[in-house]
Amino acid sequence: MNVFQRATDLSAYLSKRKQSGVRSVGFVPTMGALHQGHISLINKALEEGSEVVVSIFVNPTQFNEAADLDNYPRPIENDLKLLIAAGVHTLFLPDADEIYGNNYRSEQIDLKGLDESLEGAHRPGHFQGVANVVRRLFDIVQPDLAYFGQKDYQQTLVIKRVVELYHPQVNIRVMPIIREENGLAMSSRNVRLQPEAREQAGKIYGILNQLKVDAGKMELEHALSLAEERVEKMEATRLDYLVVIDEASFEEAMSLQEERSYVALIALYYHGVRLIDNLYL
Ligand code: AMP
Repeated sequence: MNVFQRATDLSAYLSKRKQSGVRSVGFVPTMGALHQGHISLINKALEEGSEVVVSIFVNPTQFNEAADLDNYPRPIENDLKLLIAAGVHTLFLPDADEIYGNNYRSEQIDLKGLDESLEGAHRPGHFQGVANVVRRLFDIVQPDLAYFGQKDYQQTLVIKRVVELYHPQVNIRVMPIIREENGLAMSSRNVRLQPEAREQAGKIYGILNQLKVDAGKMELEHALSLAEERVEKMEATRLDYLVVIDEASFEEAMSLQEERSYVALIALYYHGVRLIDNLYL
């Protein structure tokens, strides 16, 4: 596996590959602490792209809590093993200077309000950090295809906005959520849960599934309040939000209509760890 720490070296390598006939470049940006969710994106990229680039960069500007950034896991040796085993060709492993040095200036990007609602409202600055770093990474890698997880549902909308504004040639692929055996959505932060809490956290997915069933039988408002009660019954939780949005408008739905598509989105602190999940209704 080629490992590049410098953007110029990576760009030079990729243009050579393109000159030598590589059809397309598939890109999987990550913050490391890789798990099967990341590997599923990588496998899809390997299936579809002739050259696959993975990046690992714990982007400081998208953390709205210093403690979250400090505690973010960074098991780089294990990540390298996983990437080699998966058959990744190229890893981009920059430091913050490489991404933000050389007078690079982050901009306020017009995210059409995505940075003001739900995740945006609860994590001030987060989506501006995401949008800026993805723009910068796309500038460097110039991918044809880029792979993201539905796990971070609102983030995929932010990425599509960045593509619309700055990189219209990039084809965005959104891949399904990979879960632990108990249903908990895989996340690099799950290792911060004690084993018992990690087991219990599977209930979150159960609550989303029950909400889906209930929403088919009763008023949405009622179904949501039953789901909230179930969250409250889990000990050591603090709910940030539990809403159902209309997929087409990203607006909160008040009732469900046939032939429209809806997504239930949840964010909560569980034993001090912030978890997010979602489910199409
Ligand atoms: P992260 O390292 O958390 O920034 O995630 C890198 C990419 O992996 C993002 O596109 C995430 O949405 C995706 N991802 C994270 N967790 C999962 C999961 N459980 N299933 C599928 N994709 C995921």
